[in-house]
Order: sequence, then C-alpha cells, then structure tokens
Amino acid sequence: MREGILFVISAPSGAGKTSLCKEIIDFFPELRQSVSFTTRFPRAGEQDGVDYFFVSPLEFRRMVDAGEFVEWAEVHGNCYGTARKSLDLWQSQGMDVVLDIDCQGAAQLKKSCDSAVFIFILPPGVDELRRRLTGRNLDTAEVIERRIQNAEGEIREARWYDYIIINDRLELAAEKLKGVIMAERSRTCRILPLIRTTFPSLRDT
Ligand code: ADP
Ligand code: 5GP
Repeated sequence: MREGILFVISAPSGAGKTSLCKEIIDFFPELRQSVSFTTRFPRAGEQDGVDYFFVSPLEFRRMVDAGEFVEWAEVHGNCYGTARKSLDLWQSQGMDVVLDIDCQGAAQLKKSCDSAVFIFILPPGVDELRRRLTGRNLDTAEVIERRIQNAEGEIREARWYDYIIINDRLELAAEKLKGVIMAERSRTCRILPLIRTTFPSLRDT
C-alpha cells in the first residue's frame, strides 16, 4: 500500500473549484474529499456535514486552540479549517484526499507536507469570474464584490503551485485535473517502493 496523496486545490471564489471537485470525485470513487469547518452561514441548499461543518466562531476558536486543524484561515470575513482527524485516518489507509482550500491554508500545508500536490484553478478572465459569481445566484452583491476584490491577491499566489488549470470549458478543465491526478499517482517516487520486491533489479535502488 502506498501513502495517500494530498491534492490541494485553490482558486479565487467563482472560478469553478466546487464544480471541478465534483467531477473528479464522481470519476475517482476512491478519492476522498475533506469536509471543512466554517463559521460562514450555510447557503441555500448547503447541508451540514456534507458541504461544510457549520460551527459558531466560539466553537471554531476552541478547535484552533485545541490544535484540531492541520490548517485554517480567515477568508472573505469568515473562518475555514481542515480537521486533522479525518485526514490522518484517510492517509493511514492509503487514500488520496482532495482539499478545496484557500491559498493561505495551502501555504501552511506547503510547509508541513512536502509530498502534497498543489493545483490552482483560474477562470479565463476577471469578467468571466464576475459573471460566474453573479450567475451562481447564491451570494449578495456585497459578498460578490468582496470576493472579486480578493481575487487579485489570490491569483498572485498561483505562481508557487505545482499546476495551473484554466477552467474555460468545464469538461476540458476536468480532463486536465484527472490527468494531473493520474500522473501524480504514477510518479516514480510513489511507485518504486511498491514494486521493489516484484523486480529484483530494483531492490538496491
Ligand atoms: P467555486 O467553488 O470556485 O466558488 P463554483 O464551482 O461554485 O466555483 O462555480 C461558480 C459558478 O460558475 C457556478 O454557477 C458554476 O456552475 C459555474 N461554472 C463553473 N465552471 C464553469 C465553466 N467552465 N464555464 C461556465 N460556468 C462555470
Ligand atoms: P466558500 O465560502 O465559497 O465555500 O469558500 C470560500 C473560500 O474558502 C474558498 O476559497 C475555499 O477554497 C476556502 N476554504 C474552504 N474550506 C477551507 C478550509 O478548510 N481551509 C481554508 N484555508 N480555506 C477553505
């Protein structure tokens, strides 16, 4: 059994991260997606324990203080964090995990987990980002404006990610994302430990 791979996916809000994560979870049923904790209020249709664990700021603070998050950050005025518990369990079972988190959280993981794979999703342009945020019809005009203003700073972070995928056509972007996952699973450093006993000539490598 190989160690599970952590796929960290970031993007400015509205770029299509949630849509793309759904595509890959449907395609790779063995892939797990971490459900984050947040202090944000649920949007219409969001379910507690499915989209997020919705908690009070007080409970979130308690979890921070107790060291229950592998990373957490304040994003667009709310707190979001990834619980250590489920990640540890999946990784010990050799499961690959997808994290849909912002670039501050991704930067924290970059320091603590050098085998993680960092993927940045970009929209084709800022006008299209605004169209998608508005068309999604889930956030107020004020929230949309705040997210667009934050997008510039977030996009700047794309430079240090391992992969950048432009989400122009959803199906095409999903194919690229699947390609990254498959390629990363085939990396020599991940495969070699698994096949050493099968091929004697690889034993001393
Ligand atoms: P995020 O999770 O990054 O905030 P979403 O996945 O919720 O973004 O996508 C934002 C909106 O844009 C949604 O209404 C979604 O259906 C739409 N969308 C996502 N990808 C595309 C695409 N490639 N072309 C057009 N619309 C898209
Ligand atoms: P939304 O409110 O649109 O669901 O998410 C807003 C932002 O928070 C997105 O950029 C999303 O990736 C990020 N986010 C969601 N969960 C987490 C998390 O656990 N940690 C961090 N750092 N960011 C998160």
